[in-house]
Amino acid sequence: MCGIIGYVGKQKAAPFILEGLKRLEYRGYDSAGVAIFQNGSFSVLKKIGRVANLELEVAKVNLGGTYGIGHTRWATHGGVTDFNAHPHLSSDGKFALIHNGVIENYASMKKYLLGKEYTFASETDSEALCNLIAYHYAKEPVTPQQNRFLTSVRKALLHAEGTYGIVVMCLDHPGEMVAARKGSPLILGLGDGENIIASDVSAIIARTQSVVYLNDGEIVYCTAKEFQITTLALEAVSPTVAKVTWNVADAEKGAYAHFMEKEIFEQPLALENTMRGRFSGDASTANFGGLNTTPIEFRGIERFMFCACGTALHACMVTEHLIEQYARTPVECDYASEFRYRNAPLFRNTLFFVMSQSGETIDTLAALREAKRKGYKVLAINNVVGSSIAREADGGIYQHVGPEIGVASTKAFTSQLLIGAMLALYIGRMRDMSFGEGVRYVTALKSAPNLVRKALEQAPHIREIAKRYAHHADMLFLGRMSLFPIALEGALKLKEISYIHAEGYPAAEMKHGPIALISEHCPSVFFAPRGEILNKIISSMQEIKARKGPVIAIITEGVELPEGLADELIVIPDCHDAVLPIVASIPVQLLSYYIAIERGCDVDKPRNLAKSVTVE
Ligand code: GLU
Repeated sequence: MCGIIGYVGKQKAAPFILEGLKRLEYRGYDSAGVAIFQNGSFSVLKKIGRVANLELEVAKVNLGGTYGIGHTRWATHGGVTDFNAHPHLSSDGKFALIHNGVIENYASMKKYLLGKEYTFASETDSEALCNLIAYHYAKEPVTPQQNRFLTSVRKALLHAEGTYGIVVMCLDHPGEMVAARKGSPLILGLGDGENIIASDVSAIIARTQSVVYLNDGEIVYCTAKEFQITTLALEAVSPTVAKVTWNVADAEKGAYAHFMEKEIFEQPLALENTMRGRFSGDASTANFGGLNTTPIEFRGIERFMFCACGTALHACMVTEHLIEQYARTPVECDYASEFRYRNAPLFRNTLFFVMSQSGETIDTLAALREAKRKGYKVLAINNVVGSSIAREADGGIYQHVGPEIGVASTKAFTSQLLIGAMLALYIGRMRDMSFGEGVRYVTALKSAPNLVRKALEQAPHIREIAKRYAHHADMLFLGRMSLFPIALEGALKLKEISYIHAEGYPAAEMKHGPIALISEHCPSVFFAPRGEILNKIISSMQEIKARKGPVIAIITEGVELPEGLADELIVIPDCHDAVLPIVASIPVQLLSYYIAIERGCDVDKPRNLAKSVTVE
């Protein structure tokens, strides 16, 4: 959460920082601010609302400096006000700081500093850290070899509890930037005569593709020409410079109205990219390069455990279904946020997976660490190369779908479903799945992009349905077996971007409570694919209909529903069970998207949310 960017170089900092903030805006967007060093002082501009508001303020003044920082906030401590927006200045005016995360002991810091006559202009935790840096700068002696600025940041951080990604500037050290991270992502972009620090690569790819991914506990000092990384304990770090493979177009909307729309329609390509090069030469199983786990180890696994949050957890739940069906091995899924604290008794011979698009989800990272602490091997499924989760896991699978900017996940979700399906195949083929079954499964997976293309053709029809249902206040999403998690995902998507109250349930479970909600004002979206329990699903629909509940049915080609049962019908292609959850996701994504548009919601920046949840 929250986007941060710092620039030191030869070009004007303000336009570059504003551009970067717009690209980072999906990480937090309740307020934004910049601090630019010019003519011996910091010019600070902060504004609640979107980066566009800040841009208007910046346009009124002449910001010429080539050294500055900027921030888009997702408030944790203190309301959404101009004062609470970042950057924060220390009360002596010497330091400017931007922060992502939570300083948990800020109250005691603040109390101490108030006693030392430091003053506070905001209610944030971040300002306490800024003043603490100023305090160390003013008080602590340094040796001639030490940089006083860097030393004071380091000393202040030794007292900070909680999480942070920070970038700091100092008036006495123009052209020098200090940044550090613990629990919040931070990268260093190496440009030509310029260096950039940012929360993620989308902010810097217009300028450079060479990056250093900082690790927790590291502190970086940089000028336009050089940089140096150590740990907070002053151990030297030899950085690895990585090349980013995403390009600027990947992070732009192009001709689409919203990133979410672009990402929904990008799914056929995203699925192709997820699969590319990942099937065996005889096309009977999947191949993964980075699992760091031998087939013999896999054979010894008696149980898989998947931890994730939000949408990714729904992908794990589908994966559970597929692994149990095709590899006949028990799987357990858990909310990462619960797993990390509930001290679950775990079986031996369990292999852990964590799933997170960004690879920075703090609860998922904590679950990974907890599993490793307990002696388990943990593999990660994530999209962002070099992310914290990818680096801390023992191995894993990258999604390769390019940047996902829309806050409501779409292409990352279906790519996670695909990876789950491929894993079920991979593990299944090591157990009882025959060669022929494997070949059929691979053929089915390869057809997924085209089936999704076909499902996307329903967009105009779904848009019309959306117009008829956008005014409702409540909606149910009902599915069974592997489509139950897709019902959960459909409800989540609708809640996230249209603010309609929605719930996902296993279709038969509906009569154990939620049916009390049914009336002509509460529509139900039903998944009714072909299969052995279709008749049971039809009975559930009848029960809704008998209580005047409108029914939107998503059926596979060939299914025939009794006359008049469904008020709306969406037909998706029939397909292999492993692909069905992917194809069935498309109509609910489109339905949520078009309903949100009808209601005039900002689908790419839904209220209260932000992409990449890096706070607890
Ligand atoms: N805790 C800080 C605040 O509330 C930083 C929040 C963020 O990461 O945007 O200002």
